[in-house]
Amino acid sequence: MQSINTYDFKGKRAIIRFDFNVPLSGNLEVTDDTRIRAAVPTIKKVLDGGGSIVAMSHLGRPEGVENKFSLKHIIPVLEKLAGRKVLFAPDCMGAEAAEMSKNLKAGEILLLENLRFYAEEEGKPRLPKDSPQEVKDAAKAELKASQKQFVEKLASYANCYVNDAFGTAHRAHASTALIAAKFPNDKMFGYIMTGELNAVDKVLDAPERPFTAILGGSKVSSKITIIKRLLDKVDNLILGGGMSFTFIKAKGGKIGNSLCEDVELAREIMAAAEARKVKLYLPSEVLIADGFSAEANTRLCNIYEIPDGWEGLDASPKTTEEWREVIKQSKTILWNGPVGVFEIDKFAGGTKAVAEIVAEATTEGAYSLIGGGDSVAAINKFGLANKVSYVSTGGGALLEYMEGIDLPGVKAIKE
Ligand code: AMP
Repeated sequence: MQSINTYDFKGKRAIIRFDFNVPLSGNLEVTDDTRIRAAVPTIKKVLDGGGSIVAMSHLGRPEGVENKFSLKHIIPVLEKLAGRKVLFAPDCMGAEAAEMSKNLKAGEILLLENLRFYAEEEGKPRLPKDSPQEVKDAAKAELKASQKQFVEKLASYANCYVNDAFGTAHRAHASTALIAAKFPNDKMFGYIMTGELNAVDKVLDAPERPFTAILGGSKVSSKITIIKRLLDKVDNLILGGGMSFTFIKAKGGKIGNSLCEDVELAREIMAAAEARKVKLYLPSEVLIADGFSAEANTRLCNIYEIPDGWEGLDASPKTTEEWREVIKQSKTILWNGPVGVFEIDKFAGGTKAVAEIVAEATTEGAYSLIGGGDSVAAINKFGLANKVSYVSTGGGALLEYMEGIDLPGVKAIKE
């Protein structure tokens, strides 16, 4: 594997997998350019180094060619952010794409149309769900063969490969994993990938102590692998949000209509935390409501005494003040998942308080990593993204990497 920092791009055509899967308005204009903006350092490095770029990405989940998923809609934003004209190949497999890539001059960018207009990108046949198994098997075998050609063709456009799409690194797709093998001596991560991997490795492999993880969100079941892995690494584990009530129930509390899952699992986690001397912090008081809506009646309540007909939807100020003590003395902080239903303003206070405390701790010298779709949305909502050390862009990919899974997109570059 090569390093983007030292690779000589002079005279090279780099095919780069970006994550340009950005939201578009009804008028098909980019409404949030974060992902395109994040790609600029990699783009600049290659072009300033005397190379040219064949940029590829997916956009949305098309089932074939669909105008609303065309990458042509991102061109004006990409041109503005990259500071140069962007050429466009309207079919990533077309003769035009091959021709345009061959004629690329140093400093030029060619954007390929949405890779997912071809089923070969994901390698998943597009068949009606109720298709007979033998039809599915035959389609899969056929697609596997045509996927090889798809990969060959993409690879033929360039002489080096850069993967800068962390958000799709957990998928073994043509452009995220398979293509890497075509460039055994000329493959590397882009700056987004490097940043993401370094941030997680820093936190999980060499954290400055005390290390505190704050986990929230609705379900403990979906985060069980991460919780278990973190128990071997952290000093403090703060559990909030919907997942905390299963623990309160396991401890004999009354949780009313709050979210509840497998109580045994919670007992197992508590025992494991104790065995590893990890301090576990749960909410002591929550904001409860008599319905899951902005119009519901609300009041503060001891988390062990929630009446029937009421559910806990946010961490109270008393709870976040208790957590403040723990978070403020930490040198490393990992936060994944909101500690309340932050999408509804009435239940956003706890998550906002946590965001502010993490930002304060960062100002005072802690390293903070915020990851996972909802906590990133929360930190952005409260305007604190630039007050923490690192905000991860890769939702599912980040969680899988934290679980210790070898991400196909990462493995393909490293091996
Ligand atoms: P997850 O996808 O598991 O990280 O969960 C994120 C979701 O958890 C967000 O949409 C929150 O609204 C939700 N959530 C957080 N706290 C609670 C709670 N106390 N009750 C129900 N949902 C919650």
